[in-house]
Order: sequence, then C-alpha cells, then structure tokens
Amino acid sequence: MTAPTGLSGRWGVKRLRAGLLMVLLLLCCTQVRAEWFSETRAIMGTDVRVTLWHDRPEQAQQAIRAVMAEMQRIDDTYSPYREHSDLARINAQAAHQSMPLSPEFVHLVKRSLHFSALSGGAFDITFASLGWHYDYRAGQQPDTDRQQALLPAINYRLLNLDEAQGQLRFGHPDMRIDLGAIAKGYAVDRSIDILQRLGIRHASVSAGGDSRLLGDRMGRPWLIGIKNPRQSSADARDVVLTMPLSDLAISTSGDYERYFMDDQGQRVHHILNPRTGRPAEELISVTVLGPVATDTDAVSTAVFVLGVARGLALLNSLPDFDGVLIDKQGVVHYSAGLQTPD
Ligand code: AMP
Ligand code: MG
Repeated sequence: MTAPTGLSGRWGVKRLRAGLLMVLLLLCCTQVRAEWFSETRAIMGTDVRVTLWHDRPEQAQQAIRAVMAEMQRIDDTYSPYREHSDLARINAQAAHQSMPLSPEFVHLVKRSLHFSALSGGAFDITFASLGWHYDYRAGQQPDTDRQQALLPAINYRLLNLDEAQGQLRFGHPDMRIDLGAIAKGYAVDRSIDILQRLGIRHASVSAGGDSRLLGDRMGRPWLIGIKNPRQSSADARDVVLTMPLSDLAISTSGDYERYFMDDQGQRVHHILNPRTGRPAEELISVTVLGPVATDTDAVSTAVFVLGVARGLALLNSLPDFDGVLIDKQGVVHYSAGLQTPD
C-alpha cells in the first residue's frame, strides 16, 4: 500500500525544512565569530587585566596565558621581596663587588638612569636605600636618625652601570635599588609586544595603575577613568575624569596605593622624594599619557615627586606626553596638550 500523495508531499517538505535547519545550525556553529576575551589575575602585588578581541577562543586563551606568564616572570625576576630574584641578588652583593646583569636588567637600569637625569633626580631607583625601611602594611617608617644616615645612599649618580660588560656596582655601601616605579609599565609593554606578535590588533593590558591600549575598541575608543584619589567607597566607578583613548599608554601614580596614617594623622605613602627621604607632599594623583607604558610609568612617578609647577614643566617639555595632576587641595591641573583653547 502506498501512502496518499498529499501526506508524502508534506513529509517531503518537512524533511527539506529539517535538512535546511541542520545546515543552518552547522553553519552557525562552525562560523568564526570574533568576540572579547578578558581575564584578571593577582600578579606583581596588583591586579593584572588583559582584554583582547579574537575570533578563536583557544588562541585567545593562549594569548592571555602568554601575557600572564610574562607578567609572572617579570615579578619573579625583579621583586625586591623574593629572596632569589635577580634584584634581591644585586641588592645583597652589588655594594661589595661588580655584579653581572642580564641584558634586560641593563635596559631597565639604563632607562631608569635616563629618567633620573630628565627629572633632576626626582625619579631615582636608589630611593630604596631608605625606602626599604618603610613598611606600609605594618605602619612603620625609619626614625629621623636612620633617615639622615641613609639619605646619602640615595643618589643615582653613584650607580655604576657598565653597559658593555653588563655589570652593576653600587657606589655606596648602604645602597639598594627598587624598580617598582618602572617594572609594571615595562611588563605591560612586553605584554603588548606578545599580543602584537600573535597578530592581535585590539587589546588592553593593565597592571595596577599602568595600562596600554592596542588599537581601539572595534571602532570606538577605550574609556579610561582616573580614580577619585579620595574615594570613600570601594566603588571602582568613582572616577574624577573619563578619557576616550586608543593606541596609547597611561599610568597613574597615587598616594592612596600604599600608605598608612601615622600618630600625627599624616599620610605616609610609597612615593618618596629622594631629596628628603620623605613621602612627596604636593600631589595626590598624577596620570601620564604617552606612547609606551615603561615611560609613562617612570614619568608619572617623577611628576608626582616634582609637584605641580616642575611636574607640568617636565610634561610640557616632552612632545609625546601629557598629564593630569591632582593636588592636595583637590585642584586638577592639565599639561598644555590637554588644555582647551580659550
Ligand atoms: P608608581 O605607582 O609607578 O608611582 O610607583 C610607585 C613605586 O615606585 C613605589 O612603590 C616604590 O617602589 C617606587 N618609588 C617610590 N619613590 C620613588 C622615586 N622617587 N623614584 C623611583 N621610584 C620610586
Ligand atoms: Mg610609575
């Protein structure tokens, strides 16, 4: 017995529809769909965040893993708190003998010396000679005797870097160095290099207050906020200014990052004026924009120490840099490139 033709015709259409649906579903599933991938991890004593645009989830995850591994490597190598880091080894011995440095370490010391000279010594990695004796978590600071005794050991001119031999020797017995004001920016630049080599064209990488933007946010700028330095809530959206940016590095130095309040109610924070050995006093937040994060990181710390007038003068002397400074009274100051024409 054969089925009535009407019925067989309906079945035929149904099958055709089902087949078409299958093809559509298959197309959907196999089609490459680009999207944003993002991850945050605690590295270098801060939050490291990577966001990137990719059309292959596995490759996106691989890229994120490569960035996190590089951040971790830089922390392991330059952390002053890890007993076996290259930096700890130098600090333990470079006052007694010339110590071999990796080419990367030479590069970082050289760059630091460049910013010391540029800022008239406001940026100085030998601040650590005394800075080492501040413990912000424990609320401890060196007494005035120790401050006076160690002040002469803060002097970048006494850092003897032999570039050709790849060696470093401290010119003062109590000298120590710390790359805390430049290493995070450097790590961000290294991360962006990795992503670029993997063919990624839209990404943002940040390590605490240091960020770099690769490309834009797919036709729109990235929106980068400057934190309210005196925010009372933990709300990360409490910002004083939001800037639309792309293809740029941006670093913020603030007196709220690591600090404690002393017996007199004074804020004792982590950015030290190398001349006095005390926390820099005039500013509470400095944001610097420039081409690469190694440099914006160093310049933001330098400007923080220099204060409003000398800080703005430094920024205005650097063609590719701009900055937003907030002083103790809460007044916001802009470098020449960010001021609106009258
Ligand atoms: P940043 O948040 O980039 O301004 O870096 C702050 C860190 O820089 C501090 O936690 C110290 O490790 C380091 N630092 C503090 N004062 C100075 C200074 N005058 N020159 C260079 N590095 C400094
Ligand atoms: Mg810095």
